Amino acid sequence: MRGARMTIRVRQLIAGQWRDGGGAAATSRNPARPEEVVADVAVATEQDLGVAVEAAVAAWEGWRRTSIHERAEVLRTAAGMLAARAEMYGAELTREEGKTLVEGVSEVRRAAEILRFHAGEADRDSGEVYASPRRGESIFVTRRPLGVVAIITPWNFPIAIPAWKIAPALIHGNAVVWKPASLVPLLAMRFAETLVEAGLPEGVLSLLVGPGPLGTRLAEHPGVAALSFTGSTQVGTRLMETCARLRRPVQTEMGGKNAAVVLADADLDHAAEQIVLGAMRSTGQKCTATSRLIVEAKVEDQLLERICTRVRQLQVGDGLREGVDMGPASSSGARASILADIEHARAGGAQALTGGVSYGDAERIDGYFVPPTVLRLTGPDLPVWRDEVFGPVLSVVSTADRGEALRLANDSAFGLSGAVFTNDLDYVLGAIDDFHVGMLHVNSETAGADPHVPFGGVKDSGYGPKEQGRASRDFFTHTTTVYLRA
Ligand code: NAD
Repeated sequence: MRGARMTIRVRQLIAGQWRDGGGAAATSRNPARPEEVVADVAVATEQDLGVAVEAAVAAWEGWRRTSIHERAEVLRTAAGMLAARAEMYGAELTREEGKTLVEGVSEVRRAAEILRFHAGEADRDSGEVYASPRRGESIFVTRRPLGVVAIITPWNFPIAIPAWKIAPALIHGNAVVWKPASLVPLLAMRFAETLVEAGLPEGVLSLLVGPGPLGTRLAEHPGVAALSFTGSTQVGTRLMETCARLRRPVQTEMGGKNAAVVLADADLDHAAEQIVLGAMRSTGQKCTATSRLIVEAKVEDQLLERICTRVRQLQVGDGLREGVDMGPASSSGARASILADIEHARAGGAQALTGGVSYGDAERIDGYFVPPTVLRLTGPDLPVWRDEVFGPVLSVVSTADRGEALRLANDSAFGLSGAVFTNDLDYVLGAIDDFHVGMLHVNSETAGADPHVPFGGVKDSGYGPKEQGRASRDFFTHTTTVYLRA
């Protein structure tokens, strides 16, 4: 077993100083062993927020004038530090958020890759030049930073998601005031500490750990130029309204209800393996998790047998233990909500092919564990089919009509990610045109986010320019068109 078991004091980073917030005491707990306090923190207040934004406004003036190569150097140095500390931070991530150690360590490594990718913008940065209809004039487009950007992040990827927002914000010359989710203050501090140690100038990044309403205050602060948010559709929508009122650029990455369509000609062993990974990895607490399965009726039994066999083999437990495949839900509230969704679905006629609502095992009952569950539904009518569960629950519907399968997949308020398993090229080409999602996977599960490619959804899953890859520049800069005559 790895990871020290002591409680770590988390400090806020406000105007370049590590200090306690002026608010109440709060803690984060290990969701596999809730009696274990992982971190304690005095939360930030509105007054702390004011100091942080004011410092960021001042620091921005210097930061935006540094060369992109100097900014890249900070990110590259931080990437090296994160990679070197991946085992340690990964274990802390597992203690604080609950995902397995393999998942925790690989998330920290991914954060390092994300920083490296964005550091590379210094070498890729390029612009647009236009022909002028007037003699002696050049026309070109230059990109500029926005100013102080507010960043609000969720708990489920406590270091990768902040990395893919904060790295592009910084490389393009913005200052950042960041409010992470209160469930994961330790990992937030680790990420901020790394950037500061790597040479980020004072005030360019502030970290404010605090409750949701502090996020609202941040989003509407007059010193803030733009907001990048990842979290639930409900909170994201409210923040979009706030930003619209203030005419402030906003980017939201929100919920998902991602469907995988499996046709009869697919490799069923491969499809089953991928769908179980997509549904159960990170305890299903991923915006891109596979939460709906639409299977062609003639292979339904064969596919479900393969899926259920794999699900029953999953070792559920404390993610710090070797051999564990799936950790707990992130909190007592998350566990209760997932179990209520399963119970409600069963009451509505869904059949739990495996999993359900209880474990007999005492150790698991102590932690916020949820049995990985596969629910066979008679149709697409239950809330468990429509609403985000955000847990290890796969709902299954079958259809005899392959065209109907895509219609069922699209019949959702969300449009983040989707998957199609088939070797029928015509069907795949149809899905590329007609599956309304931000990311489409052919013969692989719905999750996945490489640092160099655009990430984000449509419909209720997201708004604004995509994240990651070069697309992230579109949100974190604005363009000025220059007409230049000597
Ligand atoms: P959440 O919306 O409850 O919280 C996200 C962040 O917003 C947290 O920092 C939280 O403190 C803050 N917040 C809460 N209330 C607020 C308010 N009124 N004003 C301003 N900020 C507020 O979401 P969560 O439970 O942390 O994360 C789970 C959700 O995030 C799921 O819906 C999941 O699908 C989504 N998510 C989406 C993506 C994506 O890229 N599309 C990635 C990860 C998670």
